[in-house]
Amino acid sequence: MKLACLDVGGTTIKSAVVTVNDKEDLKSYDLGAFSFVPTEASMGFERIRANIHSSVAALVKKHGCDMIAVATAGTVDWDSGKVTYATDALPGFTGYDFAKDLKETFSLPAIVINDATAAAVAEHCYGDLSDRDVVLTLGTGLGSALVKPGVLDCDCVEDLHLGHIVLHKDGYVCKCGNKGCAEQYVSASALKRDSGQNDISLVFTDKRYAKVKADFFDNMHRVIKYAVEKYSPDNVVIGGGVVEIKNLWWNDFVALCGDCAPSVLRPAALANKAGVLGAAYSAMCGKFRNQ
Ligand SMILES: [Zn+2]
Repeated sequence: MKLACLDVGGTTIKSAVVTVNDKEDLKSYDLGAFSFVPTEASMGFERIRANIHSSVAALVKKHGCDMIAVATAGTVDWDSGKVTYATDALPGFTGYDFAKDLKETFSLPAIVINDATAAAVAEHCYGDLSDRDVVLTLGTGLGSALVKPGVLDCDCVEDLHLGHIVLHKDGYVCKCGNKGCAEQYVSASALKRDSGQNDISLVFTDKRYAKVKADFFDNMHRVIKYAVEKYSPDNVVIGGGVVEIKNLWWNDFVALCGDCAPSVLRPAALANKAGVLGAAYSAMCGKFRNQ
């Protein structure tokens, strides 16, 4: 079984072919042809859709895939694979019948799920976690999901929407329309805005950005503390682009989070592959209804 897998974010569209050789053993897989293209979100919905289609077409043509599995930013309806809500990070996506579009365009089965949910599924299945975990993904926005005990399916992965809890009353205007949402402070976009730098590693290495770093840590700590108090997870897993440079900040940050015990803070094990792998796993286990 070969799956054409995509992870659609506000900045990049990642793609890969995931091959599962034994349907009884979903943990044995090969991941190949991993690549990414810019989403070009500022060019509008039709451009994003064209970029998605060409990413899928390249995989299907070259590798002869049997199914399409997509993780995307935004809130996705389990049953239909339709995006019910997306911020302007993906303009025009609210109401986009994503799975149906892929099925009709490529004449293949397709599933579409939320990206933080996909990351949570992947970290849970392949990253060797325990049963109750909160997964945060820091990229263009802040994604969040809770994995609850039980056989993995859509009923035990919950989209937590922590990116839109209000951290700062009258703070920055969020793409959702509210003010002061967490993702305006805890995301790669926030680090770029506050440092004025495109290379976010500078925030953690250049003393000029000490205040940006301190504020980022404080805000992330507040989100984690909120999640720990509300959901009592065994692990809080942090993934997304900011974690790809974790060697620059992880230890400093963990030292701040003493009051978050007994939850264990862990960096995501699968880095930027979590979205595509989680989408593949979900498609294969067939528990997600929008195939
Ligand atoms: Zn918001």
